[in-house]
Amino acid sequence: MTEPHRISPEQLQRRNAILSRLLEVSLILNSNMALKPLLTYIMEAACEITESEAASILLYDRNTDELRFVASNTPGANIDEMLKIAVPMQGSIAGQIARENRHIVINNAEDDPRIFRSVDKSIGFTTRSLLGVPLHVKGNLVGVLEALNKRGEAWTQDDLSNLLILANHAAVAIQNVRQTEALRKANAELEKIDKIKNDFIAIASHELRTPLGVILGYASFLKEESQGEVSEHATAVLNSALNMRNLIEDMTNLRYLHLGKVELVKETVPVSALIAAMQNDLQSLAKAKGHRLQIDLAQADTSVLVDRVKIGMALSNILNNAIKFTPDQGIIQISCERRPAEIWLKISDNGIGIPADQLEKIFDEFHQVADHMTRRHNGMGLGLPIARGMVEAHNGRVWAESQGVNKGSTFYVALPVAGEAKA
Ligand code: ADP
Repeated sequence: MTEPHRISPEQLQRRNAILSRLLEVSLILNSNMALKPLLTYIMEAACEITESEAASILLYDRNTDELRFVASNTPGANIDEMLKIAVPMQGSIAGQIARENRHIVINNAEDDPRIFRSVDKSIGFTTRSLLGVPLHVKGNLVGVLEALNKRGEAWTQDDLSNLLILANHAAVAIQNVRQTEALRKANAELEKIDKIKNDFIAIASHELRTPLGVILGYASFLKEESQGEVSEHATAVLNSALNMRNLIEDMTNLRYLHLGKVELVKETVPVSALIAAMQNDLQSLAKAKGHRLQIDLAQADTSVLVDRVKIGMALSNILNNAIKFTPDQGIIQISCERRPAEIWLKISDNGIGIPADQLEKIFDEFHQVADHMTRRHNGMGLGLPIARGMVEAHNGRVWAESQGVNKGSTFYVALPVAGEAKA
């Protein structure tokens, strides 16, 4: 390696230019570039700062334990041919740079037996000299950066130092882009799976509705017309079919919520009417479990502008859970609290309670505190996400509080009061 003793004004100017180029490199490599333009930029910068004819980047393929050319600007070369070439880790210059994690300087490549000649041959290029540095990030091999054919004399110490600086930035930038691209791919894959799931739900719920209608019709007919054991069997069929219909309705509602297609037919309704409707809906279920429903209608004359059916569905889902997750002879309290521009409906039970780390998760689709295999209650984990979706479509909020396991739970539904804007 040769190093000039005295620095001429031209050399000083050149050093200046290289320094500003390296500064620019660090800024550009930190921006959000796609892989291809990024590699091109790195190669051009490598040629410029080392005054060489060409540059190549090889990336490490962990699966095959080989290096692969991913970019090169060798003049006149057949790049497509070059990109097909795999360079082995053993017996090649690039392989040695990668394995030993250190640079290699070759000033007379034509005589060097380590040069991987098949590359030169297949692309029609002659490597006269080579300066290669590893691309490494925190001990992980990313690849190799090579500058080829120094213009003029031999490689200098400055060429090496500058190429190493470039390689440090380049390795991080390449790694970042590859990780972002992998994430993007995984995301696209997830979106595809989500679409398949949604299409399946749409088709299944549509196709199930007709045969289910027939089963419901005949089962109720049979129940009315029969007696004794046959009537009991017909009731069992009817109840199962009704459960299935609820499930299909849940799935359909969820789909509409996802698509943002919930149509709201709003009217001004006093909260007392919403409470009465939910009580009416679930009274018999509560009675069957021996629960006491305590309803406090103070402040329930406040009106809200809501779709009765959709908010009714949300409230019924919450009350249904309170009944379901409270052992027999429990107490369920329903009350409301006037807040600035809002009314809070409160549904409390003295049932099995909810662990602190589950209070938010229970609003996720298909999430249940007890897993499917051990739980004793029926349901699919859709009641609360639907309740939250419906309430949020009204610009309201739903949340849960609990002191812990076996300490009961309280669910809040906050709805904007009709005609009052929030401060
Ligand atoms: P599902 O009731 O069909 O399981 P939900 O979405 O309505 O689905 O509720 C999700 C989970 O939240 C329930 O499985 C249960 O573990 C928990 N949960 C909901 N309400 C209560 C409650 N009042 N008390 C205790 N746990 C509850």
